[in-house]
Amino acid sequence: MSRYTVAVRALAEFTAKSGDLDLRFTPSPTAQEGIAGHTTVTGRRGESYQREVPLAGDYRHLHVRGRADGYDPRRNRLEEIKTFRGDLERQPANHRVLHWAQLKIYGALLCRERGLDQVELALVYFDVVKQKETPLREVHEAESLNRFFDEHCERFLQWADRELAHRQARDQALTALAFPHARFRSGQRELAESVYQSACTGRPLLAQAPTGIGKTLGTLFPLLKAAPGRALDKVFFLSAKTPGRKLALDAVRTLTGDGTMPLRTVEMIAREKSCEHPDKACHGESCPLAAGFYDRLPAARQAAVESPILDRRQLREVALRHHICPYYLSQEMARWSDVVVGDYNYYFDLSALLHGLTTENQWRVAVLADEAHNLVDRARGMYSAELDQIAFRRLKKQVPKSLKGAFERIHRHWNALNKEIEEAQPDTDYRVHDDPPQGFLFALQQGVAAITDYLAEQPEALDSDLIRFYFDALHFNRVAERFDSDAFLFDSHWRAPSRGRPGSCLCLRNVVPAALLAPRFETASAAVLFSATLSPPRYYADLLGLPDTTAWVDVPSPFRAEQLQVRIGHRISTRYRDRRASLAPIAALIGDQFQQRRGNYLAFFSSYEYLEGVLSVFRRAHPDVPVWSQQRRMDEEARQAFLDRFEEGGEGIGFAVLGGAFAEGIDLPGRRLIGAFVATLGLPQINPVNEQFKTRLAALFGDGYDYTYLYPGLRKVVQAAGRVIRTGDDEGVVHLIDDRFALPRVRALLPRWWRCG
Ligand code: SF4
Repeated sequence: MSRYTVAVRALAEFTAKSGDLDLRFTPSPTAQEGIAGHTTVTGRRGESYQREVPLAGDYRHLHVRGRADGYDPRRNRLEEIKTFRGDLERQPANHRVLHWAQLKIYGALLCRERGLDQVELALVYFDVVKQKETPLREVHEAESLNRFFDEHCERFLQWADRELAHRQARDQALTALAFPHARFRSGQRELAESVYQSACTGRPLLAQAPTGIGKTLGTLFPLLKAAPGRALDKVFFLSAKTPGRKLALDAVRTLTGDGTMPLRTVEMIAREKSCEHPDKACHGESCPLAAGFYDRLPAARQAAVESPILDRRQLREVALRHHICPYYLSQEMARWSDVVVGDYNYYFDLSALLHGLTTENQWRVAVLADEAHNLVDRARGMYSAELDQIAFRRLKKQVPKSLKGAFERIHRHWNALNKEIEEAQPDTDYRVHDDPPQGFLFALQQGVAAITDYLAEQPEALDSDLIRFYFDALHFNRVAERFDSDAFLFDSHWRAPSRGRPGSCLCLRNVVPAALLAPRFETASAAVLFSATLSPPRYYADLLGLPDTTAWVDVPSPFRAEQLQVRIGHRISTRYRDRRASLAPIAALIGDQFQQRRGNYLAFFSSYEYLEGVLSVFRRAHPDVPVWSQQRRMDEEARQAFLDRFEEGGEGIGFAVLGGAFAEGIDLPGRRLIGAFVATLGLPQINPVNEQFKTRLAALFGDGYDYTYLYPGLRKVVQAAGRVIRTGDDEGVVHLIDDRFALPRVRALLPRWWRCG
């Protein structure tokens, strides 16, 4: 019989959690606060104190392992440290039961390993704000701890046996897995081979592969094939947008055929999309799907593993059948699935669930990042934070009495900070600072603790400015913990409302996410980042923190140069100063092309202002040509209506913005789209923030301008132009409108298969 290995914490969570789901005592301290809290507590112990004690033991074929926080041999005391913020009295009883269960399992393992008859167990709760310990102590005989350990292992063993059987069946099926189509598409085999190679060697892979070759299948298939040989526990398919996740689920369906293959897949869905009771809070007194959650979870979990693909609809169906919350069921099922499909943030953000589970359970995972060109900006967003003083002041006037003191303290520190800023840099509205201010951060931390306590008393969900501020403040503190002046920028600017006093906006901006992403890639046994636009690879490797051993593959396009005419608008300048003069020539160029070959076109501009300028000239010059344009904040229905105008064989021009909803990820094959116009190089605006980015990136990588402006701009251009040729039968034209497109260093960043005329 094979051995099943389980972490102490996972064992306790599986066997000792009961009652309601209750998030009132959360969010718990950040990972950094947790580490700092542990260090503070263990630092207070004597010299003989042993930290991070590795412990392991077996019950039949179950292997249990973990690290106890600390052991004091002089007192024969084993400690488990739990950091928290808020009022400990409010901690739900089932959280406490879980903590004791974990400690008792460690106690049993320690007694066995060291031949002890008894041991003192101490659950040490450490308040991260007050830096105060509250210890709870109990003395236990080795015999009773052993019984406790055996009971819990026995309860888990039935599940573990099924998991072992599943794993064996899964690995056999994956070993025999055949490519689901008669042949690979052109370029798809090369991509698949590179991915397989990467999984086998453990070297991360950056794969640039054009649209139309079946990238999703071309990456998932080889990773699943490699899973048995590389002993991979899970494959995480991570994407920036919903369509990418849909494609991944479709690819899994294609691979697994009739649904009898023993491969479990789960889709992670955002809380706002899966919550059944948005007006309620996540605890049993408010939400019926949180009440008794852990009591009903075992049956729901059992039913869920019988569905091979738990997409949003299937998860909801299972969850509601068992009267539990679908959102939290999806989090549970991430533990028991082979393929997890979700947004980037589930693995990369500061408190990412999938990354946390991977380290805790020592899983061997393969990470697939779809449309990876998005990861730079998405990671910057995850690791940046902002606070607005005007919104804070408004909120301060409304907060309940119990929060007045905490808000007053933040207010004082904020004003003191403003004064300091003004004195140091009196002549400017935008300012850059050295480090986040410690006094202000501490006041913010105390404010978060006070709000945590206040929220615990509220029976219903509060969808209010207070909640928004709470999460913003929490995030601000989390980002501040990671602040380092190479990778981050701490800046502020003044905001003047139409009425009342101006206030400052404080921003912690991540410029280079590499240092925070690198450990995520290190945790993975295999990492593949793919997209149609990953050039130049050095830019992505630098900013994403990929190691020097990262492999690069640039899969040739399956399309022929003759399919796409690329024309450069040599005589037009779209530089900011020339924009007004460029409106009529661009409108004329679009009109000429339309007359030459009537059909559907997309015209892209760097801003709404530019778009509207050309559109108005074009309408006057060509009143008979149908036009439609992208609007700010279009909902899903409006976006679909925009796309529906591109009928097969239709005629007209859709005006859109570069980098927007229609500039990537949309598919208009055949005569639904026969050409595109791209005005400007897509360069981000020159402003004080981007100029700061340029300075920092120049200091780190030498190419400040290219890293800040040129590469991100050209990526948007190539993505937008890439809408035209989607299949081997498509034919079309792309007009790149700006004389700078003729520069060799710009042309070098365009796809190799384009022949520019
Ligand atoms: S249904 Fe909504 S309110 Fe209820 S537990 Fe789930 S996420 Fe929370």
